[in-house]
Parts: sequence; C-alpha cells; structure tokens
Amino acid sequence: MIIEDVTDLYLDRIIKWRRYLEKYLFSDRLQDFIAKHIGGIDVNAPPSVPVIVVSNTCGASIGGQTWYYKDTDEGWIELSEWIIDDEEQVRSILRHELAHYIKEYCRIQAPPHSKEYTKVLKMVSPKHFRRDKHWKSTKEIDMKRKLIHPRIKIRT
Ligand SMILES: [Zn+2]
Repeated sequence: MIIEDVTDLYLDRIIKWRRYLEKYLFSDRLQDFIAKHIGGIDVNAPPSVPVIVVSNTCGASIGGQTWYYKDTDEGWIELSEWIIDDEEQVRSILRHELAHYIKEYCRIQAPPHSKEYTKVLKMVSPKHFRRDKHWKSTKEIDMKRKLIHPRIKIRT
C-alpha cells in the first residue's frame, strides 16, 4: 500500500485544528507544566504548536501519530484521512498527540504510552484523558478504513 500525503485537501480544517491545539498548549496549566520540566535544560526552540499533516493512512489501526524532531524541538502530527470527518475523534487524537509532543519536549524519558505519558495526558486533558488514550471506531470510520485496509476485521 502506498502512503499518500493528502494534507492539501484539508487546509481549512487544519487551520482550525491548529487553533484548537494552540488553546491547549498556551494555557497557563500547560505552560507552567513545561516551564517546571525544562528548568535548567537548553531547549532548541520555544514550545510550538505541532504542524498537522494528513495522509491516506497512518496504519490500519492508527488514527494519528506524532513525529518529534529533537534537533529543532518541533512536532508534526500526522492524521489518518479515514478518521478526519469525525470531529470528536480528531479532537481526542489531537489531545493525545499533543501529550506526546509535550512529553518529548519536556525530556520525560519513558515509553510512548507509559504511566509517565498518562501523567502528561492528564495535564493536557484533565476531563477526557481516559477517552483520549485510544480513538474509538464507529461504523462510518470502519467503512472508510476498510476501503484502504481491505483485510482488516471490523465489527458488523
Ligand atoms: Zn500515542
């Protein structure tokens, strides 16, 4: 299967999603958390809202993923095209991915979904952190997912 970058088709939504992330990242709560963790560390750049890109798929069961560039301290969030019409799921994924970005930025060295990650996710998303651990499939998402991953098993 060929991975295709379809970001250009969704620029208007991406602008909106980046504003959504901005609101979280620059909240007092997260700025305080970050400042506390990077005290005394030479970071390469101030915290910044991750770039958002959309590909036809990140993988059969991956709604989104974060690419972190240590040399510039920048994050890129890649979303799967098959999930992006579900605004609620996208917001949940964005909170989840922002927590990955912040964990990396703060040099919290632990596996991606460790308890250390969950602590960051709780800070990003105090109300929804349980829901934000994983996206939920719906019939609509599964229909679109099956178009690109014909062999996946989906609930009927
Ligand atoms: Zn994750």
